[in-house]
Amino acid sequence: MANRIKSPPLEGKSPYELRLDQSSGTSESFIRTALATGDVGFLHSFTTGSTVDGPGVRLVDWTAGCQRRCLYCPNPDTWNMINGMAVPLERAVAELRKYRRGLQVMRGGFTLSGGEPLMQDRFAVKLFAASRVMGIHNVIETNGFLGDRLTDEEIRLIDLVLLDIKSWGSERHRRLTGKEIEPTLAFARRIAAMKRPLWVRLVLVPGLTDDPEIVSGIAAFAAGLGVVERVEVLPFHQMGRYKWEKLGLDYQLSDVQPPSSELVEETCRIFRREGLKAY
Ligand code: SF4
Repeated sequence: MANRIKSPPLEGKSPYELRLDQSSGTSESFIRTALATGDVGFLHSFTTGSTVDGPGVRLVDWTAGCQRRCLYCPNPDTWNMINGMAVPLERAVAELRKYRRGLQVMRGGFTLSGGEPLMQDRFAVKLFAASRVMGIHNVIETNGFLGDRLTDEEIRLIDLVLLDIKSWGSERHRRLTGKEIEPTLAFARRIAAMKRPLWVRLVLVPGLTDDPEIVSGIAAFAAGLGVVERVEVLPFHQMGRYKWEKLGLDYQLSDVQPPSSELVEETCRIFRREGLKAY
């Protein structure tokens, strides 16, 4: 398997770099084996120095592959796994080991994001196990849709779950993401039942996710879980717009402006009214 893997630079300046076809020519059977074993992952890139993907300063692996099609997705080049680079597990672990000391000193760690990391659940589990052995705090940023791919034991390998709840209400959620909300909520309830730490994230898109009914619904649900340590309201931005254009995709949010600081604050207040810490 290993001799078929190309090794271009993996580190990116940011996840907003457009990266395409990094594994083109890779056979179906290679991908199937990689997914089944987790011995190879498909990564868009990794970045260092992030302060917005979990506590402290973090190394982030950006996985390729996502089953959703969110209207505001900032990284549509991560939808297709073939756009990710085929990276042997040992190489991904070696990168972690290289930064281990610095990550510990900066009270940070390792975050697996995407794309949707649970599209590559075996690779994710092996990386979490390796980071646990190295004493590196680990985080998954996920939409939770594929949460039932993880056993309880595997969930316990994850130090913190950052769960993206995209909208509220089945129909609205399906219109925004192309998928049902229920698996995400079921995953959240499961994390809560296991008493594992959880942060909830909402991308605030004016006209799309800022309806107080949506925010109140998510806030009440999150508060009811009893394990949500923090809510992050992430202002929508247009940094991924050029990717939609380059990929020839129909981007429907060209005219949408980022939310005002007042709107972000008002949204945080709705979460705080439910007793949650919101930023
Ligand atoms: S879940 Fe994330 S990566 Fe997937 S389409 Fe939505 S925003 Fe993009």
